[in-house]
Amino acid sequence: MICEHCGKPLQGGVCPNCGAEYLPVCIHCQAVVPAGSERCPVCGSEVLPGWNVSREEMERRGIRAFMPYTPEHNYDIYLGGNPDGGGYVFHNDPGFSGPVPEKIVLPGLVEGRPIYGVWNEFFCVGDEFTPDRYDETFRRMLPLKTIVVSNGVREIFTFGFFGCCGLETLELPRTVQKMFYDFYDLFTDGVSPLQNGFYKKDVTIRYRGSREEWERVAVTSRFNDYVKMGRIRLVFPEE
Ligand SMILES: [Zn+2]
Ligand SMILES: [Zn+2]
Repeated sequence: MICEHCGKPLQGGVCPNCGAEYLPVCIHCQAVVPAGSERCPVCGSEVLPGWNVSREEMERRGIRAFMPYTPEHNYDIYLGGNPDGGGYVFHNDPGFSGPVPEKIVLPGLVEGRPIYGVWNEFFCVGDEFTPDRYDETFRRMLPLKTIVVSNGVREIFTFGFFGCCGLETLELPRTVQKMFYDFYDLFTDGVSPLQNGFYKKDVTIRYRGSREEWERVAVTSRFNDYVKMGRIRLVFPEE
């Protein structure tokens, strides 16, 4: 296993190089399993290390999570958005509000509880993506070149990475089941520059699984069109 932060080999729960903490999560049911287990005791599936952060650290990095309350008194934590299906309704001020780094790792767990998905307009919230604010939004988001989604996250929604105009590499975990963000806001027809003349560089998606596993990930037809056009390049690092 490789640390999602520094790329160095990872053994045990804490990266010896950068100190990032990981908990073992089931790739199928997202249960946090006891340390040392090779298989999930609930469903028998494989286990991977998911980055686990405290709420304070997440806040320090500008990553804001929304925690819906369920009748079973469980919390699923979403990165932004509204899990009731409203799409554009935001709970207070979730979303990404920190200084924009060159690389960001989105955690798979917060204080041992799973993060389910990256919801709509996580990076660009509110009216940041209305035409009269495009320039400002692009300037803010341009430094972000790499997004790594930690093991455990299952769904990326339609506007998950909206406005990430500088993005060159997106790393997706094997746990991802739906990749509904398709870069339409940035590639538009795939060739023309955007309204402000900004031209989006091609994106490499590094999927941390096999081609067969990727076949089972739900994507939009537009996503596949961009793959055909060469705007999105899919890489399978395990090959
Ligand atoms: Zn590390
Ligand atoms: Zn499981």
